[in-house]
Amino acid sequence: MVPVAVDLGAVVAAAAYVGRFAPSPTGPLHRGSLAAALASWLDARVHGGQWLIRIEDIDGPRCRRGAEETILGQLAACGLYPDRPVIRQRDRTEDYQRALDALRTGGFAYPCACSRRVIEEALATQRGMAPERHAERRYPGTCRAGIAEGASHGPRAWRLRVPEGAAAQIDWVDRRLGRHVEAIDRTVGDFVLLRADGVWAYQLAVVVDDAGQGVTDVVRGEDLADSTARQVLLQRMLGLATPRYLHVPLVRDAAGEKLSKQTGAEAFVPGSAALAQAMRDLGLGASGVATTVPGLLAEAVGRWRASWGKI
Ligand code: GLU
Repeated sequence: MVPVAVDLGAVVAAAAYVGRFAPSPTGPLHRGSLAAALASWLDARVHGGQWLIRIEDIDGPRCRRGAEETILGQLAACGLYPDRPVIRQRDRTEDYQRALDALRTGGFAYPCACSRRVIEEALATQRGMAPERHAERRYPGTCRAGIAEGASHGPRAWRLRVPEGAAAQIDWVDRRLGRHVEAIDRTVGDFVLLRADGVWAYQLAVVVDDAGQGVTDVVRGEDLADSTARQVLLQRMLGLATPRYLHVPLVRDAAGEKLSKQTGAEAFVPGSAALAQAMRDLGLGASGVATTVPGLLAEAVGRWRASWGKI
């Protein structure tokens, strides 16, 4: 597979370490997202790098008015300030379009007219079971050879034409979780780059943005580990560098469920108590000696250096 070269304009000069925190402004940050933010900030500090914030507001209908300001205020109250101006995905659509155009020109993207129902039925037929009973998330390739005659008119999604064979086999290494191998043609198949409703897919946007911001190190919650192979494939197809990855454990509630906005996790109250909790959530303890935000951050840097600084 020969990558297509995407011109992302003025890509920032490569620095030795650039990390980022990329919250979606669907509500205020909760305890789990603060732990992820702190982890990425600490890793950047310990490596003498830069730490950036990117607001992932690509999915307009899911975003809440005022959430961005709330998030930035929560981070600032915990001493987490970005080293460059904050960027927003809503300002980045030209680059997403450029990436899609490059893939289209290379024959690596195609339009798709399938509704969710059509996909479920096709998969169920392949497996010989009722649509309700199959739990597969792989796209069966219905529109790969062209949109069927008689398909409904209207806006189309765009999908990546995942290469066949060895090129679809993605091997990537996480600093904590180790080596992962995923054959994307078998797990998810041709995944969506642009939704039929005009919303850019997270996988494409995150790859284009990480490259555009010169990100060398992605530190984020473990729930995103299973997106990483798709992101690495896109980086390879677009001729972009692959960052290092570190997925940190998720913060869970008493029932063992991941804290999330969807399940009603509460906003944390910004300040030193939340920061001390985030340190405990990351397994960094807190001596109890430091009580101020700067004191806690200094302690956290020392502990992170001892655990993750060399890896
Ligand atoms: N915007 C994503 C989220 O809030 C994070 C994406 C990423 O870190 O790659 O879950």
